[in-house]
Amino acid sequence: MRPARALIDLQALRHNYRLARELAGAKALAVVKADAYGHGAVRCALALEADADGFAVACIEEALELRAAGIKAPVLLLEGFFEASELSLIAEHDLWCVVHSLWQLEAIEQHPVHKPLNIWLKLDSGMHRVGLHPKDYHEAYQRLLASGKVARIVLMSHFSRADELDAATTEQQVAAFEAARQGLTAECSLRNSPGVLAWPNTPSDWVRPGIMLYGASPFEVEQAQAARLQPVMTLQSRIISVRELPVGEPVGYGARFTSTRPTRVGVVAMGYADGYPRHAPSGTPVVVAGKRTQLIGRVSMDMLCVDLTEVPEATVGSPVELWGKQVLASDVAQQAGTIPYQIFCNLRRVPLEYEGQ
Ligand SMILES: *Cc1c(COP(=O)(O)O)cnc(C)c1O
Repeated sequence: MRPARALIDLQALRHNYRLARELAGAKALAVVKADAYGHGAVRCALALEADADGFAVACIEEALELRAAGIKAPVLLLEGFFEASELSLIAEHDLWCVVHSLWQLEAIEQHPVHKPLNIWLKLDSGMHRVGLHPKDYHEAYQRLLASGKVARIVLMSHFSRADELDAATTEQQVAAFEAARQGLTAECSLRNSPGVLAWPNTPSDWVRPGIMLYGASPFEVEQAQAARLQPVMTLQSRIISVRELPVGEPVGYGARFTSTRPTRVGVVAMGYADGYPRHAPSGTPVVVAGKRTQLIGRVSMDMLCVDLTEVPEATVGSPVELWGKQVLASDVAQQAGTIPYQIFCNLRRVPLEYEGQ
């Protein structure tokens, strides 16, 4: 069997969820959209269900997958519905629903709903992606109440720059949210992972941690609370071939690496078809047989090469960690010019294996 796999540490996932809730001093919806950022939504949700106040996903398809697996906890649809016809399923499966646009509000007013809905009313506090304009916010709230179709309303917004520790935007967004919700008495929710980790004095009855659950930092710089996270995924494989090259020999497609010393090259069963980023350059850290070394040459579809010159004990069959507890996914992502969110989501073909039930 091909040795490439992603090991998912559910114990670490629970640790990170509890840390989120402890730091926030609030209820926390575990964000498991996009198949739990590549970690397997059903398995992750089942592992968290005893602890979790609820879950959040991007669409009803993802929510129904959780319900079909027996998850009874609240599940929030972060973009609400895409078509009004989803409303009956939303009511039937007791899903919580974001309203981010006036067309959704009108759909709720017009659509027969046989059970009262739980609505999270989203304000555009400055990100300018989705969310109601502040001038429409109060009226939308009143219309939802007047529709008679709503059991509860939570007031929410989303940060655009909370991962930038010194940007003033987050405080401006909080101020915009405070102004817009004045006079409304309802619970509120603002913070994503960077909000939970770095913006402690933000009003929050509910927080919505995503990336931090999976143990990756949303920050480009070191941050004290983020250092307490435990990586959940270990992407691993093995050495499948070893060769010795003299000085001046190229390795891989396009000869992007040429040996400048006698070099021992190891080939790893892992490539961009598995989701390992093709843009990771020579020098990207990799751990072989417990020792830190580096990627050399271009990543190909099913294989990549590593420098074993300083790891003489490594041979065919030696274990390789591409990212995990020794090499952080955020470091690999940074090398490849992307973010850990994306390298997790890009994972494919690699079987997921779970430990720490
Ligand atoms: C994805 C998402 C989150 C989680 O964000 P992280 O940065 O991964 O913590 C929170 N809220 C909303 C609305 C989202 O879409």
